[in-house]
Amino acid sequence: MIKRRKTKTVKAGFVKIGSVAPIVVQSMTKVPTVDIARCVRQINQLVAAGCQLVRIAVPTRADTAAFVKIVQKANVPLIADVHFSPSRAIEAIEAGAAKIRLNPGNIKDKKSIYRIIDAAKMHKTAVRIGVNEASIRDLRKRDIPPSKRVALMLNKMKKYVRLFEMRHFTQLVLSAKSSDPLRTIEINRKIADAFDYPIHLGLTHAGLPEDALVPSAVTLGTLLAEGIGDTIRVSAAGNPVVETEMAKQILASLGLYRKPSVELIVCPTCARAEIDIVKLARRVKKAMADQKIGNRKSEIENPIRIAVMGCIVNGPGEAADADLAVCAAKNKAFIYKHGKKILVVPESKIISVLLEEAQKL
Ligand code: SF4
Repeated sequence: MIKRRKTKTVKAGFVKIGSVAPIVVQSMTKVPTVDIARCVRQINQLVAAGCQLVRIAVPTRADTAAFVKIVQKANVPLIADVHFSPSRAIEAIEAGAAKIRLNPGNIKDKKSIYRIIDAAKMHKTAVRIGVNEASIRDLRKRDIPPSKRVALMLNKMKKYVRLFEMRHFTQLVLSAKSSDPLRTIEINRKIADAFDYPIHLGLTHAGLPEDALVPSAVTLGTLLAEGIGDTIRVSAAGNPVVETEMAKQILASLGLYRKPSVELIVCPTCARAEIDIVKLARRVKKAMADQKIGNRKSEIENPIRIAVMGCIVNGPGEAADADLAVCAAKNKAFIYKHGKKILVVPESKIISVLLEEAQKL
């Protein structure tokens, strides 16, 4: 069981961020913010996928003008992603942002920061201070050693936080991102030691989804396993729904997120496999989803475990703790229920028999 690091509680609209609340999954829209209809559609898709906070970039005045309307149509608190422009930050706060993200690397003027803080206080808007390694000018030179990079990022964070604390503003979430997993782990450990504000985790510029998943899972997983992290985003190029699904998988693998209603265990296959296991596993997954197997509340809390195994040599033993198991043989399959063999069925009947047995469970 993971012991979360104790933090202050920050409210982004109706969503609580911090150790009192479950870890919050967030993502970003990737359509033009001025295209209000597409933006709202993507927000709805993200919410349906399990996203609890959605961030939207507001680089221009037209974007913050659209943001006002998007806030009214969205059924989830929105975060305005602000770079370079203090005016955009204030416009987004006034537009109803539940939280804004500021980058200390590009909003540095003290007077402007104070204006933002005062507006955030007045509108009860939370603020994420998001330090990005790539946007700190002193870190753009290639020959700076990793330890110095981490020290400089931490220093930047400390100075920025001090400005907010001097104004008695504590609705802060902190984040420090790099595209380097080890540096991201190290800087977040240091931030966790130095502050008791909630931490947002992410590995920046992680790449295409297939390239982003492993580095993100390693980086975020390491920190989450140490109890560090109160909200996460997996950054990947492309559809943000995929980011959300990856974030949920990382959390679920550590027991930090509700498991899916059907948990599929699939053997890795080897030379003993008597059937195309990947194809069969995909068919089982689709059939369970189509029939909404396991979608009732009690089953969500206690998912049905279905194992798809390639042979009867090792399959039954390895699938012993599954509720249902299919162990393939030549042109047929052995069906197990709670570790006991109940049926032998031809290959063509595997899916229908599994569905029937799953319904009984
Ligand atoms: Fe190989 Fe059988 Fe184990 Fe699958 S269950 S990995 S086919 S031994």
